[in-house]
Amino acid sequence: MRVAFTAVPDSHLPSVDELLSIAVNAVGGSERQGQVTMVRAVQQAIDADEHLAVQAGTGTGKSLAYLVPSIRHAMDSDKPVVVSTATIALQRQLVDRDLPRLAEALGKELPHEPTFAILKGRRNYLCRYKATAGWPEDDEQDQLFDPREVSATGRMVQRIQEWAEETETGDRDELVPGVSEQAWRQFSVSAQECLGANRCPSGAECFAELARQRAGEVDVVVTNHALLAIDAMGELPVLPEHKVVVVDEAHELVDRVTSVVTGELSELTVSLAVRRVGRLIEQSVADQLQEAGEDLKALLAAAPPGRVDELPQVLGLTLQLIRDTAWRCVTALGPRNADKDDPDKAGQRKAAFTALDEVHDTAVRMLDAYGHASEADRAEVVWLDGGTDRRPPALRVAPLTVSGMLRDKLFGERTVVLTSATLALGGTFDALAAQWGLSGPGEWQGIDVGSPFDHPRSGILYVAKHLPQPGRDGLPQQYLDEITELIEAAGGRTLGLFSSMRAAKAATEALRDRLDVPLLCQGDDSTMLLVKQFAEDEPTCLFGTLSLWQGVDVPGPSLRLVIIDRVPFPRPDDPLTSARQRHVAARGGNGFMAVAANHAALLLAQGAGRLLRSQHDKGVIAVLDPRLVTARYSGFLLNSLPPFWRTTDPAIPRAALKRLAAEPTEPADA
Ligand code: SF4
Repeated sequence: MRVAFTAVPDSHLPSVDELLSIAVNAVGGSERQGQVTMVRAVQQAIDADEHLAVQAGTGTGKSLAYLVPSIRHAMDSDKPVVVSTATIALQRQLVDRDLPRLAEALGKELPHEPTFAILKGRRNYLCRYKATAGWPEDDEQDQLFDPREVSATGRMVQRIQEWAEETETGDRDELVPGVSEQAWRQFSVSAQECLGANRCPSGAECFAELARQRAGEVDVVVTNHALLAIDAMGELPVLPEHKVVVVDEAHELVDRVTSVVTGELSELTVSLAVRRVGRLIEQSVADQLQEAGEDLKALLAAAPPGRVDELPQVLGLTLQLIRDTAWRCVTALGPRNADKDDPDKAGQRKAAFTALDEVHDTAVRMLDAYGHASEADRAEVVWLDGGTDRRPPALRVAPLTVSGMLRDKLFGERTVVLTSATLALGGTFDALAAQWGLSGPGEWQGIDVGSPFDHPRSGILYVAKHLPQPGRDGLPQQYLDEITELIEAAGGRTLGLFSSMRAAKAATEALRDRLDVPLLCQGDDSTMLLVKQFAEDEPTCLFGTLSLWQGVDVPGPSLRLVIIDRVPFPRPDDPLTSARQRHVAARGGNGFMAVAANHAALLLAQGAGRLLRSQHDKGVIAVLDPRLVTARYSGFLLNSLPPFWRTTDPAIPRAALKRLAAEPTEPADA
């Protein structure tokens, strides 16, 4: 898997080796072999115009390793490089810490000081026009719900109004604490709803336009996977022209792209379209769509949640009715560019067209999803999301794979570097490459630049082989006993990663009285505050589910033990993964391995990655589910994990944890 990369000389700019060395010195770090290998590999991929996947373990310093060649390329080609992340945390780290330090360090060595900007989707910026003129229909949606929600939304609206007076960026993420989607919607527009800067009275001072302009002038544009996907699909080019993209947190790419292209129909989406169009066309035409929406509401309320494999006749007729009545409304609205000299009316019409198009096109997609003779030919899956107290049931539609889309639209036009601490599943990149649509020989390269951590000496992977397999009825008593013994040995300092919120809560409830260390559970407070509390108080333990598997970065003695209750397969009733699994099987593949096992391997590797966050860290990963060593797929899962020292003997991790608990605390290094 390792490939030898050599530094590529260039006529007028310093080599990436030289630039990296200057950058590392400037930030007070030391040279790491994995980082040097990565910087050269990225440079070579850019030069050869070849896609590259790089697995780089925690502590490699991978952001510098891709930013240095990216900046160099931007200077050389006079075209920006786009860096895409999945999380806001990484986005912030890049623009608030890594890029400013790099720009300062490399400024003297390059023709100019490197420049950078962040660019998000239009919905993330305050729309000055809507904030002042408004098209005030969206807030009525709240009236459907609890009056307390309405007043909470009202308070948030007031806060946004005050913030709007002083913000310099209009970026929603700078509004702290955050606000609900309902409140924000009253101050933002989608790209489709925007009037266009030329026609909008606020166009000259529009935050989204200013961010876009700025992005067009810099060397590095930092964005997110969703905007990258929207841009790549090409209907609305939003990013400045570019040839090179770096996708960090690339293990999230497929899920984020799938979210972007998932469609939804519910009483809310239909009634929103009706409200937006209601004042602009004859009432009787809008009423027809409203009635179709009522039919859908009644059907969805009576149907069980889950995949809709066969289209029931009555649902098919309702979808046709929604499609046709939405289209009648579109026709009644007249030409799309009417009223272009009246911004108020133009804004209202654009908002109406956008909502109607979405309803119409989603109904068409759902009907088309059933137009195939066999399972193997299907392209999309439709399912009923049962809703919650705050959200009514909704019908959703999503593609069974996004590989073709990524292959044609993202990889077809650009050189893409994909990186993450977790890309090799079962020891190879093949699984993720197939999901990205990169399967052909010579299309891409994959390298694992390793990790600066000494996994076999720093961590133990303990699998509780003697325990029963996890069942459907909650955590067995033996699991609770095992967790208690491990936590007692570690003196707390435990991150409990559970496969469901229900299991995390059940374990917390059962163990709070049994343990004499503080035990926090996700949901007790905001996750950010809980992680902070966990990090600051050594004996404290934190139990939780999905977001903790990937989002906890606690170096030092507060985290010595990671407990994983079961191999994190997707739920068998998860509509999208179960449909994807069936689809692979219908095409002759191994659906379980291609979907469920890959999902579990990725999450297991992410969860195990919480343990070692700095060179001094030591500890134990305890997996209670014996299938990790007994099942036929166990080799694949184990090969997806870092090379910890392995054991199934419960005495060994307990003794190691006791020793660690007795050790004097060493400082954490980043
Ligand atoms: S140009 Fe679009 S986003 Fe900007 S203020 Fe006008 S309507 Fe809002």
